[in-house]
Amino acid sequence: MRYCSTRGKTELCSAAETIIQGPAPDGGLFVPAQAVTLPDLEKLAGASYRERASAVLESFLGGFSAPEIGRFTRSAYGEGARFSHPAVAPLHKAGDDLYFLELWHGPTGAFKDMALQLLPHLLRGAAAKTGEKAVLAVLTATSGDTGKAALEGFRDVPGTRVLVFYPERGVSEVQRRQMVTQEGENVSVAAVRGNFDEAQSGVKEIFADRAARRRLAARGYRLTSANSINWGRLAPQVAYYVSAYLDLRRGGVIGPGEEINFVVPTGNFGNILACFYARRAGLPVHRLICASNTNNVLTGFIRTGVYDRNRPLTPTSSPSMDILLSSNLERLLFELSGHDSFRVRRWMEELGTSGRYRVDTDTARAVGELFWADYAGEEETAAAIRGTYREAGYLIDPHTAVARAVYDKYRAATRDPAKAVIVATASPFKFNRSVARALWGEEQVLGRSEFDLLELLSSTTGLEVPPALAGLEHKPVRHESVIDRAEMKEFVLRFLA
Ligand SMILES: *Cc1c(COP(=O)(O)O)cnc(C)c1O
Repeated sequence: MRYCSTRGKTELCSAAETIIQGPAPDGGLFVPAQAVTLPDLEKLAGASYRERASAVLESFLGGFSAPEIGRFTRSAYGEGARFSHPAVAPLHKAGDDLYFLELWHGPTGAFKDMALQLLPHLLRGAAAKTGEKAVLAVLTATSGDTGKAALEGFRDVPGTRVLVFYPERGVSEVQRRQMVTQEGENVSVAAVRGNFDEAQSGVKEIFADRAARRRLAARGYRLTSANSINWGRLAPQVAYYVSAYLDLRRGGVIGPGEEINFVVPTGNFGNILACFYARRAGLPVHRLICASNTNNVLTGFIRTGVYDRNRPLTPTSSPSMDILLSSNLERLLFELSGHDSFRVRRWMEELGTSGRYRVDTDTARAVGELFWADYAGEEETAAAIRGTYREAGYLIDPHTAVARAVYDKYRAATRDPAKAVIVATASPFKFNRSVARALWGEEQVLGRSEFDLLELLSSTTGLEVPPALAGLEHKPVRHESVIDRAEMKEFVLRFLA
């Protein structure tokens, strides 16, 4: 299997080279150059999460052998791995035709662990394969969850360094605490004055800065990315869609080949794109329902074919989706336009210059046939948390609640009877202030810290605080830097001195 860039100006690469590079040197993103097909699903129904992930990755990471992939998945999802649930990504039934796919049982309490527990093993495997001698410097912009997951995944992994930039405002107190208390000898964290889009574009600029990369190369470092612009992040995410489907098959909830819907709370379009690739490779998925918060650029795009980021970014209770530039959409456009890198380049140029582009009608129609999109405002999100708890006794976080609210709109609009899986992307304890406010009202949260609320939420619901979040309050702060966007490059060069 070879991989090509969405911008068409990079030579085809092996899986190993693709993963080490992160984004493609021409500014595009790597995707498989040929069609990928999943193995026989019926044979995997009885398999463990680790075995399912191995089978999926053998398809999506052609070039790595089965024993190599087996080693990666054993470290990430096998016995002794860091997921606190034996099923790794369990389904929770919350209604006749409705399930939640819990992707938050990893060490940081959000779905980013699903891929970032595997990526370090994959990167080291890739470096061994390509004979890469440089130390891999993983550069990451985060809206809150990726950063911590990357730090936990890579901490003290030999031959790597991790640098994380998060927006100074816009992450929850728990998220911030998780990052500034990070341990490990090879890690560094800085807050950037600005929002996620600014932190992300700062990172992209460093990647594109040839002089900076040359200086780092001379010091023995090679930059790579843990963001979902790296194919090594996306491929492991395909596995949980397949696994959710297989759980429904195993339970007899669906018949062979029966199509289901997935509802995905979306920001950078990475999670839902993995679902798209699963479907393309043969997973019986009917509709991909794209749920946005108030920053609903994607809703507009999926409905009209016009992407327009010319609006202010609004901070919401689902901060990991407070994004106006959904990087991975570029991959979808490339796929749905028939690998037409000429058109993709033109759209991305327009996006760069005017913040807006319109895709052609064929591409827009292809998007609209597969995807359905809507968004949930802050009130609707809170109501979804409250409603799901009262009706199903199930506690969800604000990101998951956005998806829940959009799913209800989808059902009302289409009456589609297909079974649906809502992707639960974070533990409700990770965003406890918003969850507590939704359940009990503002008076109950006023004046209480997130750490008090963590306890309160646990004692009133009878749910245990996930190990990932317990004791956070008492950990010493190790990373205090707050920098301007313009200082990011200097920060990198200083850390990698
Ligand atoms: C990152 C994240 C999202 C958005 O995922 P994308 O891949 O960026 O679309 C949603 N919810 C949570 C909790 C996240 O951490």
